[in-house]
Parts: sequence; structure tokens; C-alpha cells
Amino acid sequence: MAEQKRDYYEVLGVEKNADDAALKKAYRALAKKYHPDMNPGDAEAEKKFKEASEAYAVLSDPEKRRQYDQFGHAAFEQGGMGGGGFDFSGMDFTDIFGDLFGDFFGGRRSSGRASNGPMKGANIRTSVRITFEEAIFGCEKEVELNTKDACKTCKGSGAKPGTKPVTCGKCNGKGQVVFTQQSFFGMVRNVQACPDCNGTGQIIKEKCPDCRGTGYIPIKKRFAVDIPAGIDNGQCKRLAGQGEPGVNGGPRGDVLVEVIVGRHPIFQRQDQNIFSTVPVSYAVAALGGDIVIDTVDGKVVYEVKAGTQTDTRVRLKGKGVPYLRDKNTRGDHYVTLVVQVPEKLSHEAKELLRKFDEATSDSLNAAKKYTDSKAGNETKKKKKLFDL
Ligand SMILES: [Zn+2]
Ligand SMILES: [Zn+2]
Repeated sequence: MAEQKRDYYEVLGVEKNADDAALKKAYRALAKKYHPDMNPGDAEAEKKFKEASEAYAVLSDPEKRRQYDQFGHAAFEQGGMGGGGFDFSGMDFTDIFGDLFGDFFGGRRSSGRASNGPMKGANIRTSVRITFEEAIFGCEKEVELNTKDACKTCKGSGAKPGTKPVTCGKCNGKGQVVFTQQSFFGMVRNVQACPDCNGTGQIIKEKCPDCRGTGYIPIKKRFAVDIPAGIDNGQCKRLAGQGEPGVNGGPRGDVLVEVIVGRHPIFQRQDQNIFSTVPVSYAVAALGGDIVIDTVDGKVVYEVKAGTQTDTRVRLKGKGVPYLRDKNTRGDHYVTLVVQVPEKLSHEAKELLRKFDEATSDSLNAAKKYTDSKAGNETKKKKKLFDL
């Protein structure tokens, strides 16, 4: 079991409703305090720096913040159904740091990790379009993407068969070079990938003809992506270990499939609930009666109560969107009943409506009559108002 993660808001010491400026300020203070360059060899400081950077990376991104608020850390867990799509392990925190501090540190990476050690391969991002209903009930989609595989000719070494890469002279095979630099905060120790061998520690003298020395060949791969019921627009499905090959024996990266959900002509979605509008005839609204309502599960019959006013909202329980973590629990479908006033009436219908008005005006217009009589023009005004 992984170590329990602290709440991101707590890590940064900000309120749940903190705005961008507050987040940035809080992160800036923590980053300055715990940056590895200011605390060389201090593992605890590095941990704190990463924790703060991770919290800031999530909370400063509106979409990730929304997912975090909704699902907590589960939103970004490996293979989790909570939307995933955020890989901290492969993330370069110095990028965010660079954004905030410009080149106080010369904009250089200062990772303490040996750059010619095993490294996880890059993640590949792609997207897939699905329909509104597919997002609700889940589906399987096929995606095709360009990735790479180790070159068979040179077995990934990049060297021409029969030759071998030689140890880099500049870094003695370490893959990184260390130098100190005067900066805003004093002398800092910088570690940089070796420029001669690009951090590999080895130099290829004679390149493999098939991969031109890269050790990889481009390939196209097809995947079946199982998209869980309840996924929302913008959420990601992670295919662990299907990304680009790792370096120096590291594991493959992941494939992150962003899901783009199409609009529906009558349903709108907000988190787990569905909304729609249904017309109700004047007579049904007044007298009550059954109407048919479209839901994602098909048509349902709903009994409208007598005397229903326009814009009344009714709830169809459990007809909404399943929760990603528990597809048997669903949100609700809210239907707004809109009472229709007929635009075109036959002569007969008009007559009936006039009679109806006369029969009901006492009760319906009691309040109106009272105001009108006070103004002293009751009859005149009334005639005009109801002259169809
Ligand atoms: Zn090759
Ligand atoms: Zn080198």
C-alpha cells in the first residue's frame, strides 16, 4: 500500500476556495524553502518540494482541480477509474518551477537522479470521441497511435551490428555533468545531462542503419480501450505500460486516452445528473395526466399532477449517470415541464377557450379584478386582454 497522501490544500496551506494568486503565492514560498538546490542532499526537503509541486500542479489546473475536488487522490491513481490521466512520476517539476521563478536557477534541470539509469518511457496522449450515451453506459473503442519499439537489428543499442557503443569521455559514462553556478540565492550546484552523449553515458560511433542510431523504430499500434460507464468529457483512461519503451531497461510509459463526449440533442449533463425539458399541454397541466418522457434508459410514463405550473422541475430518481467508482449507483434525471400555450387555434377551440375563461375567470382573475376595479376601468381592460 502506498503511503497516505496529504490533502493538496493542506500541503499548500490554503483554503478550499483559494484563487490562482493565493495558490501561486503559497507554492512559491514552499518551493523556495524546499527546493533541492537550496537543500542539497536533504531527502526530506526534496520530498516536501515534490509534494508541494504536485499539489500545485493539480490545483492550478482547473480541470484537474475539479477532478480532485470530486474524487480526491483517487482521481489520479494508476489505473483508477476516477479520471486518471495525471502521471506524477514522469512529470518534470522543474517546468512548473521555471514558470514561477524564471531563470533564477538558470532554467536548468537539477534532478539528482542519475540520468543514465533505468527510466520509464514517455507517456503517449491520445483522444477518443464517444457519444453522450456511450459515456453513460460505457463502451469499448479502438484507438490507433504512433509509438516506437526497440529496433530489432541493433536490439535497441543504436550501434551498427558488430560494433559497440563506447563510454562517453566527457562524463565517463555517468550521463551527467555537475557544475556550480552563482545565482540569485548564492552558489548552487547544478547537475545536467551530459551534452556529448545526451545523458546516455555512451557514444555510438557507427550507427545502426535501420534506426539511424536511435535504437527505436516507429510503429503503429492499435488498442481496444474499455471506457467505463459514467466517464465525463475531458477525463482520461490510462493504459499502463503501453506507452513508449523505457530507457536503459526502464518500464514502458503509459498511454493516456482523453475522452471527448459529444453533445446530446435533448439531454444535458452536469456531473452525475441529467437535465432535459419536456413540453406539457395546457390541458394536461391543468387537469393532470400521463406524459411520456425520454430518458437515457428509454421512454418512461410520468403522471403530471393537476394544477402543474410551467417550469416545474420533477426528478426521475436513478435515471442519471452512473458513478465511476460504483456503476450501480446513479444520479438523477431532472425534467423541467414547460406548459405550452397554443399558438394556432381553430374557431371551435377559440369558442371553447372563451367559455373556459368565463367559467374560470372568477377564481383565476380574482386578484386581477380587484386591482383593475381600483383603477376604475375593469370592464374595458378585461375585454382587451381576453379578446382572442
Ligand atoms: Zn537499430
Ligand atoms: Zn557523456
